[in-house]
Amino acid sequence: MNALTVCLKFHGDLSFFLKSNNAIVERQFRKRTSIKDVIESCGVPHPEVDLILVDRKAVDFAHVVERDTEVGVYPINTRILLPENRMQTIHIKKFIADGHLGKLVRDLRLLGFDIVYDPAAEDRQLLGAMKSEERALLTRDRRLLMHAIVQHGYYLRSQNPLEQTIEVLRRFDLSSAFAPFTRCLHCNALLEQVEKSEVIEQLEPLTKIYYEQFRRCTGCGQIYWPGSHFDKLLARIEGIRAALTAEF
Ligand SMILES: [Zn+2]
Repeated sequence: MNALTVCLKFHGDLSFFLKSNNAIVERQFRKRTSIKDVIESCGVPHPEVDLILVDRKAVDFAHVVERDTEVGVYPINTRILLPENRMQTIHIKKFIADGHLGKLVRDLRLLGFDIVYDPAAEDRQLLGAMKSEERALLTRDRRLLMHAIVQHGYYLRSQNPLEQTIEVLRRFDLSSAFAPFTRCLHCNALLEQVEKSEVIEQLEPLTKIYYEQFRRCTGCGQIYWPGSHFDKLLARIEGIRAALTAEF
């Protein structure tokens, strides 16, 4: 067959993923190709795409391009046009993070969000847990995000942990869902309030004297109390809140 010419226009911040600054990309294909593959051949992972218009009609990722076509590709945006054709879910509170994202993971757990993290996990294990536990994938591996099994996910633009946290809170619209100090920073399990008498054997002498309120992790047993580390965590939460409202 003759080559098909597909002219794609990428809207919003999707140009972040393109090789050049030009948001219009022309591609040629020698065979019928799914629109998912056409878009990803330009470097844009499908979980970043919320709406596709082919010759001005909304289509899903399985749509097959069979002739010369003009395509509009739109990112996720909370201010939405054509809401009935949007493909992504905004509000998600369960995540799984790829390796090298430990600080982001700690921030999200500090705010009470459920985020699984095993830096030693292989891609296959990561994707398996993502699917079976219905989690959104957070990663800086574009290839991983393009895997067909990924339904919801996000590519972290920044390498700075605070900026990454803000990106996730904005993408999934989580600013009103904070539940600080409810989840273990080490293992992700929920914390429970315990009586001092239940944990007193495990406390250092000064902690026994000065503190009365304790929480214990229901997973790993770690004990939390409002000691000196607590002020640092509070400051981190305030820093996140301030950064979240600073831009826009
Ligand atoms: Zn724990």
